[in-house]
Amino acid sequence: MRVQFLGGVRTVTGSATLLEKGSLKWLVDCGMFQGGKEIEKRNRSVQHYYPEELSFILLTHAHIDHSGLIPKLIKEGFHGKVICTKATRELCEVMLQDSAHIQEAEAEWQNRKIKRAGGEERDPLYTVKDAERSLQYFQTIGYDEIFPMIDGVKIRFQDAGHILGSAMIEIWVEEEGGEKKLVFSGDLGNSDPPIIRDPSLVKEGDVLWLESTYGNRLHKSREETVQELLNIIQEALRDRAKVIIPAFAVERTQDIIFTIGQLMRKGLIPSVPVYIDSPLAISATEIFKRNSDCFDEETKTLLSGGENPLELPEIIYSRTTEESKAINEDSRPRIIISASGMCDSGRIQHHLKHHLWRESSHIVIIGYQAEGTIGRRIVDGAKTVRLFGEEIAVKAHIHTLGGFSAHADQKGLLEWLSHFNNPQLEVFVNHGEEKVSMELGQLIRRDLHLTTAIPQWREEKFLFSPEKEMQPERVIPEKVAPEEEVREVSAPEETVSALFRHTDRNYKRLRRKLKRERARGKEVTDSRWLRQLEEINDKLEKLESEL
Ligand SMILES: [Zn+2]
Ligand SMILES: [Zn+2]
Repeated sequence: MRVQFLGGVRTVTGSATLLEKGSLKWLVDCGMFQGGKEIEKRNRSVQHYYPEELSFILLTHAHIDHSGLIPKLIKEGFHGKVICTKATRELCEVMLQDSAHIQEAEAEWQNRKIKRAGGEERDPLYTVKDAERSLQYFQTIGYDEIFPMIDGVKIRFQDAGHILGSAMIEIWVEEEGGEKKLVFSGDLGNSDPPIIRDPSLVKEGDVLWLESTYGNRLHKSREETVQELLNIIQEALRDRAKVIIPAFAVERTQDIIFTIGQLMRKGLIPSVPVYIDSPLAISATEIFKRNSDCFDEETKTLLSGGENPLELPEIIYSRTTEESKAINEDSRPRIIISASGMCDSGRIQHHLKHHLWRESSHIVIIGYQAEGTIGRRIVDGAKTVRLFGEEIAVKAHIHTLGGFSAHADQKGLLEWLSHFNNPQLEVFVNHGEEKVSMELGQLIRRDLHLTTAIPQWREEKFLFSPEKEMQPERVIPEKVAPEEEVREVSAPEETVSALFRHTDRNYKRLRRKLKRERARGKEVTDSRWLRQLEEINDKLEKLESEL
């Protein structure tokens, strides 16, 4: 079977893997690229996903870097099912709409600039309507059940311990030499995550996709991290200062509510006001409360004892902009939890503008900060950051607490991997920054003696065929690795035939589109178009004469 890595390789965002078995094609995850203009350009090129030819999408969890391009794919012709857990579907309902709002607002802002420069306006990646429409394609599946997807392909979702509804996915495929098993770790949680169940262990598999977000780091223990948070809150309360926590709306926010609640229940901190300033986090918290069947035993026990682990004595939800503004008028010491978690957008930016320059304020970073984000710059010690067109000095106390991470650290990843009992297991290390994935890959080879590869963006591989071969890693910085070059890492014959298939497919798709346009009474006679067609023909003729 053929595999193509369409995202989440040598980077943490844009997770998507295309799998192809005969004429059957499907995706595992369909995520959005995030973290700056250059990488986000990739969000526009979903034709490489073959939307109209895909039979289904298997979705590990609701985070936008895994689900964010689904509405776009549907807009471009995908009409199969999106398979995920019930909680993932519910979370996607609010998260995809939130993402669409951001796309619309961004396009509007960009278009104002484009218009002034006399350029051509651009559509948003997708609209709120597209996001709403996409939900009808979602089909939910329970944890732990083996589900016959289609002839020759079975799947199973198991707990990944990352966020509510998150799953690792096992896929059994019938191949010539017998049944083979692919495993996608998805985003893998820490062991003993709060609220939700632990990641499941998998023992069997032939090929594994393993995430590596923290593949080169060790988290502090949860106890130490909670102690650090306690110290920060106590110091801030003593100084009558504020604690600002940028948090991902899903899971991190609920984890922090849960943890602060524990500290209050134990009498370690007084009941201070805690603001949840993110409509998305508020909706996500409601979804958590509705999906208590995903909770672990500890949380279930709390619930049955009459305690609500997601409530606090004074929790203030601000949905509207007015409510959000009012937070800064409240002069009492308080804790503000707001999104986005990487400080790149959303209301957190207002709070940072108010507090980053104040020496007494405390900013507590609890989640992963991708390259190119404002959060990353703050963590890396920037003296100033730019917010709303203004340089803001960074003078507040900046704390980074690793132990709240929703991802396993290096030790956790290796530990989870060590349960596989197949010495022939091949591991694609993905969902990590390039050097991090490489470091983890080396460790896996050294300590567990398994074959590893760190795929390139859009690279293809053939699995279970005699000529397949795992390629050694090599560093090709993204900027000097144009799309064409990426294919060089595959065996030459495979590459040539794959390229021919691509050419065929692209040509057929173009014909279909032309036919459709004609049926609508529209002739494509634009000179730019014709010039491009001429160029293609010239190139084909040249190629043919060279062969
Ligand atoms: Zn995730
Ligand atoms: Zn992710």
